[in-house]
Amino acid sequence: MKTTKGCPICDRPAQADHAPFCSQGCRDRDLLRWLGEGYRLPGRPADPMEMDGLDRGDSRD
Ligand SMILES: [Zn+2]
Repeated sequence: MKTTKGCPICDRPAQADHAPFCSQGCRDRDLLRWLGEGYRLPGRPADPMEMDGLDRGDSRD
C-alpha cells in the first residue's frame, strides 16, 4: 500500500509545496474546476442529472 496520497487531479505523488497536489499546474486546474462549477450554482439548485454525470465512475447499482 502507498503511504503517500496522490494528487487528486493526476494521481501523481503530492509535493509538500503544493499539497495536496503534485504541482502548481494541478492546483490551478483544481481551482478552475471549482470556479467552473461555481458558475452553474447561482440562483438555481444543481441539476440532479448533472450531478450524476459528475460522479460517474463511482459505485452504483
Ligand atoms: Zn497532479
